[in-house]
Amino acid sequence: MPDDRYVIVGGGFAAAVDHSTLLRSSWGRARVENLTITQVYEEQDPWLRHVDHRMGQWPGLLALPGFGERHLAEPSREFLSSRRFAEANKSTHDATKHEIVIGRVVDLRRHNDYELDLILEGRPNPVRAKYIDLCTGPGKMRWMQRWRGDRTSPRTIRQGVYFGADALWTEYRNPDLTKLDRRVLPAELFMARTFAVGHQVCIVGTGPLAASCVERALSEGATSVLWVGMDSFAGSFPPSGRYDALVTTASGPLPVRSDFPDTATDLFSVDARLELVPAHQLLWVDTSSSSANTLEAFLVPRKGGPSRLFVADQIALSASSQTQYDEPDSVAALLDRLRRASPIPVPMDPIRLDSADVLQGIPFGFQTPLGDLRVLGVAALGHPDFSSSVSTTLRQYEATLPGQARVDLRGITLSAIAIAQANRFFRRTPNHSVNTAHEWELAALLDATSGFGLADIRGKRRDPFVTLSEAGLTNVELVTRYEDPDYYWP
Ligand SMILES: Cc1cc2nc3c(=O)[nH]c(=O)nc-3n(C[C@H](O)[C@H](O)[C@H](O)COP(=O)(O)OP(=O)(O)OC[C@H]3O[C@@H](n4cnc5c(N)ncnc54)[C@H](O)[C@@H]3O)c2cc1C
Repeated sequence: MPDDRYVIVGGGFAAAVDHSTLLRSSWGRARVENLTITQVYEEQDPWLRHVDHRMGQWPGLLALPGFGERHLAEPSREFLSSRRFAEANKSTHDATKHEIVIGRVVDLRRHNDYELDLILEGRPNPVRAKYIDLCTGPGKMRWMQRWRGDRTSPRTIRQGVYFGADALWTEYRNPDLTKLDRRVLPAELFMARTFAVGHQVCIVGTGPLAASCVERALSEGATSVLWVGMDSFAGSFPPSGRYDALVTTASGPLPVRSDFPDTATDLFSVDARLELVPAHQLLWVDTSSSSANTLEAFLVPRKGGPSRLFVADQIALSASSQTQYDEPDSVAALLDRLRRASPIPVPMDPIRLDSADVLQGIPFGFQTPLGDLRVLGVAALGHPDFSSSVSTTLRQYEATLPGQARVDLRGITLSAIAIAQANRFFRRTPNHSVNTAHEWELAALLDATSGFGLADIRGKRRDPFVTLSEAGLTNVELVTRYEDPDYYWP
């Protein structure tokens, strides 16, 4: 292996955007120089394993900076197929020349002032690099806790899952992500398996991923779907309105809103097969009196009262991603290990553009003071310190994007823009996409009144603009997506 490496950790879309925009900006090419670009990942793009489903955005928001594939042949007013998205990631990935190392990064160390060591699980020798970009995404999935003790005691009734049978717990915790035929499985894997029509399914947890599992189970012909919220269902319904059709409120459909419905109890199902069970605290699954393939499960209500029994073919548990310092597979924990081994400041410095740039006040990721280790995309935007301290200006930017692109700083569109900005991809030619340009970029491209006015209108929309006339623009050099990459690329 060569010693002079530029390492990108990650095999997802973030790594593809990073790699591609680095090589297509003069800033990036000067940084990479003649280093060998090495991509290190445990698994190539997780999108390759999801079953084909409709994503949360129209193609205009998922044609990413630095990607040759702009989804121009896809229906422009429909949610993009996840298969198409995965193909675009793969073709961008395949188009770049690089070395690939498959492995799991478990530690980072500073070798000397100019080099960093990446420690891979089970490998005696580190991968030494001059630069490292961590594009590791939202973090590995979080596992539900297993609660022990007397399941009926109020002291042991907490939020979590009580597995009555050890075998079931082992089945759930099987780290082999290709083993999909489990009765209790993480929601991420539920989105990866072929679904058997007629199943009775229970989805446990809240958030867009849980909602997407519910939507998928219904659309694939589940006989009944029980959706158990461990807390309020509110966060399951992003401003895009993507999952609104699953439920209604006492006063009718979910309104077009900038806010979420704030209690779980005012939501009702619109599909006779879907039942919502809000805010139960304990789910208890057992096989003791179940047939070989089904499960018996009990829900224990938060405020006492009798538990409720149901039988399911499959239970999918959605528990979000590992983001916190005390979660071993989070980026925060990885950086903390680096800090302990050789003190570097944590949280790290926000990546900002040059002082002459109109966007210089906005943080587009994290980096060390030397700039040799960067954290990019959702890996940075979902870091606990990022969201608590420096993200205000980025949040303000996100609030001006169409509703489909507002995913609490975790969405693909904003993540890709932030990476491209961190790589100064838009330095030669500003972002001129009417759907994603920052309001200051729009003001500079048009004039202040039109630019800020346009961003204001965009922020009140749910869907991206498909034509410029929808945006009230004629004879202006703006595009609705990155139509012509050569326009940006040097
Ligand atoms: C089912 C599902 C549907 C979603 N739908 C949408 C949607 O429609 N729209 C939207 O905006 N967002 C959506 N999201 C959220 C969004 O997809 C993710 O935020 C996005 O995939 C993150 O991409 P990424 O490249 O940053 O990270 P990932 O796609 O998670 O890729 C991370 C990469 O880093 C590697 N990696 C991580 N840690 C290590 C390590 N320690 N060592 C080695 N390699 C490592 C992984 O192997 C992988 O290759 C969805 C998420 C899920 C799970």
